[in-house]
Amino acid sequence: MPRNLLEGLTRFRSEYFPKHAEEYRRLVSEGQHPRTLFIGCADSRVVPDVLTGAAPGDLFVVRNVGNLVPPFELESERHHGVTAAIEYAVEILEVEEIIICGHSHCGAIRSVYEPPPESLAHLSRWLELAAPARVEHEGPLSEEVLRKTERRSIVIQLDRLMEFPAVRRRVEAGTLKLQGWHYLIETGEVQILDVERGEFVPHA
Ligand SMILES: [Zn+2]
Repeated sequence: MPRNLLEGLTRFRSEYFPKHAEEYRRLVSEGQHPRTLFIGCADSRVVPDVLTGAAPGDLFVVRNVGNLVPPFELESERHHGVTAAIEYAVEILEVEEIIICGHSHCGAIRSVYEPPPESLAHLSRWLELAAPARVEHEGPLSEEVLRKTERRSIVIQLDRLMEFPAVRRRVEAGTLKLQGWHYLIETGEVQILDVERGEFVPHA
């Protein structure tokens, strides 16, 4: 991978693009019709397209600190970036699935126990969305507790998604599926939420 991003641009233009030019032209003439809304963490180690092998046109991606979903709020006086993206994906693009992808060693989730400085007011406020995932534990914060908190947060964000009227309507109509993924950076494994069993199981 090029460390120099401008070199990367040159290589994209000279190597990748010519091989896929026809596909790009088709995506322009037909527009995008992604099947999946992927909500992932802004963490630089979590790269949705690398992880899934997705090609241009496959994923509509929202990445934010902690792969968090804000509560659905009717008032639209403020600027709701994540909510706007969900609204667009679900109601205009009509994606067929939404994946919330959390990951191991997530700084946002760690902040549930070790909050950022209060001077970072926007970050502190945003991270409140992960607070309900907190796991009661004794002794020092362990990696096990952190993994458990990351997984709990994914479930909480999925629950919050269901509070979006359009999401609920389409899930109940059977035209939209929700998935929870937990990506382990250190092993490359993805564990997938089995809703019926209420636990994350390794993806074969
Ligand atoms: Zn993260």
